[in-house]
Amino acid sequence: MKTCILTTDTYLNHDTGQGHPERANRVTVIIDHLKKLKSKDLIWKKPTKFDLEYLAFAHDKNYLDNVKDSFPKQGLNFLDGDTIVSPGSKEATRDAVGSILTAIDGVMKKDFNNAFCAVRPPGHHAEKQKAMGFCVYNNIAVGAYYLLEKYNLKKVAIIDFDVHHGNGTQDIFYDNEKVLYISTHQYPYYPGTGKNSEKGKYNNVLNIPLPAGTTSEEYLDAYEYVLKKLKEFKPEFILFSAGFDAHEDDPLAQLKLKSEDFYNLTKRTIRAAQLSSKGKVVSILEGGYDLNALKESAEMHVNALLEF
Ligand SMILES: [Zn+2]
Repeated sequence: MKTCILTTDTYLNHDTGQGHPERANRVTVIIDHLKKLKSKDLIWKKPTKFDLEYLAFAHDKNYLDNVKDSFPKQGLNFLDGDTIVSPGSKEATRDAVGSILTAIDGVMKKDFNNAFCAVRPPGHHAEKQKAMGFCVYNNIAVGAYYLLEKYNLKKVAIIDFDVHHGNGTQDIFYDNEKVLYISTHQYPYYPGTGKNSEKGKYNNVLNIPLPAGTTSEEYLDAYEYVLKKLKEFKPEFILFSAGFDAHEDDPLAQLKLKSEDFYNLTKRTIRAAQLSSKGKVVSILEGGYDLNALKESAEMHVNALLEF
């Protein structure tokens, strides 16, 4: 079975400043590590250019205009306290979105079975009209809308296992019955949202808040609720917001997952929706800030993708 890795080198030029945890070598270590796998079933592809109008599915026009004007000619610019852009961010942010759209096209055309986008900046904190938490465009939200608008799908599921709640993705789809958003995350924690009582207008949001210190076993037990909800929804396509910062070695959070847990949760998720989705899956990198844990966990995630 073929899995595609979508990436390009423009992420290197998205400069967030010295000492920032969301830095270029996060993606570099993943790419270098996956290349070493030398799997014949792993194929590599660069994002293609896309119609920028697609960004307006997920974001307000004003916001997009502001972002467009925010990329500095030199130096750095702050979109919020920790969301920073540099001259190279213009291309990097577009390529992050372009990667998920190219991946979706490839899966829909059956060029490959599924895909993982190794990109930055991440996207799940970006709201309709707000950059936040290292995120500028909500890559996965644009991807989900692309499936609804271009491919006319009626049911898309987004599974967000990043340790932080994807407030942006929830914001964008809160009243959209065609998109199921499920998040497991440390709570209470940044960004403050993600209570169990936030269920979406059509019961299309499932939040599973977990206390600091949650172990692998406790996490996988709680994950049964994700699988149950997914089975009920019967998605035609699965998108993963793949953050690996729930790993026990991650410096930004306090969940206690091990690298192999990302293999298990990926496999269980795809299995739970295999009938309805026919295994159509695209995953995109969100967080993950310990370089060793990040590369190991990403490999585990991709190993599970390779099995479908
Ligand atoms: Zn995160």
